[in-house]
Amino acid sequence: MAVKNPKACSHCSFITDEDECPRCGNKTSKNWQGYVIIVDARKSEIAKRMGLDVNGKFALRVR
Ligand SMILES: [Zn+2]
Repeated sequence: MAVKNPKACSHCSFITDEDECPRCGNKTSKNWQGYVIIVDARKSEIAKRMGLDVNGKFALRVR
């Protein structure tokens, strides 16, 4: 998946190029900073801390 102008979901931080989050349907924002890539959500401490249960790319901060 090629993402040209990625946006991040204001609710779950999922990074996508859609206007609405494909995961939770909330609005996405272009105003976000930093990201983590979760490759194994069940074993990842970061995923646990962020409350994530799926693999993917997630913004650290969304405004
Ligand atoms: Zn979302």
